Amino acid sequence: MQVFNTGAEWQKNWLQALQTKKSIGFVPTMGALHEGHLDLIRASKKSTDLTVVSIFVNPIQFNNSEDFEKYPILTDQDLKLLEKENVDFVFLPSAESVYPEKPRLSFNFGELETVLEGAFRPGHFSGVGVIVSKLFNIIRPHQSFFGQKDLQQVAIIKRMVADLSFPVEITVVPTRREGDGLALSSRNMRLSSSEREKALLLFNNLTHAKNELMKGEKWLAVRNQITQVFEAEPLAKLEYFELVDPETFLVYSEFDPTKKSSICVASYIGNIRLIDNLPIIP
Ligand code: AMP
Repeated sequence: MQVFNTGAEWQKNWLQALQTKKSIGFVPTMGALHEGHLDLIRASKKSTDLTVVSIFVNPIQFNNSEDFEKYPILTDQDLKLLEKENVDFVFLPSAESVYPEKPRLSFNFGELETVLEGAFRPGHFSGVGVIVSKLFNIIRPHQSFFGQKDLQQVAIIKRMVADLSFPVEITVVPTRREGDGLALSSRNMRLSSSEREKALLLFNNLTHAKNELMKGEKWLAVRNQITQVFEAEPLAKLEYFELVDPETFLVYSEFDPTKKSSICVASYIGNIRLIDNLPIIP
């Protein structure tokens, strides 16, 4: 496994030799790796010749400075995990090398970012757009892998790739969960044991909502009832619980069983903000 710290190193030492002969798979991460990340890496290893993983906690996508400052950094442990997965290359840049200057450019993903994560995390998707564009331009992958866990992120990356003609194929990997259903997240390690228990509210209410819709219940009634469940839990602070089109993020007020939809949730559990979603496929 080769670790490199700058784009110039990658391009000079490896990219030129590899790009025309091998397919390059790329998995961008912010580290504190878990099995969800490893699923992306395994998917890349399965469908490409060489896998590059980046670890970079991108400051410009954090709209909450405490979330950024407390974001877990576990580089040694991450490198061991990546070595075990037989990853070929790890890109581990410093913030100074990624952003020698504060970028002037920002992204506006239009209606995709006025709802859900976009509405609650102003500037977040612009920061994601900037870093993913930079990483695509540095690594020049043929294929890149993203988790369904961050469904709105997938939608904006696909939009960006289409709108700017990035020559990369985007592959989406299903959400990896704990045995009880909690979606794996690097932020879970910051939950206390009582918060960890309450974190199940997200997955449990997503599945409950999906079951109710399947039984023919009206979406707004289901959402109302679930909002009350969250309100009754002092450790939880619900930000949204919405039914959306998973590609356009158009927010539905009624469930249509003939259309693809996803139920998306974001809630604080204590001080930790968690998100999750569940697809409903007709
Ligand atoms: P992060 O390190 O949180 O920025 O995530 C890096 C990538 O891993 C993103 O594409 C995430 O969507 C994906 N990811 C995070 N958690 C999971 C999970 N539980 N299952 C599948 N993919 C995930």
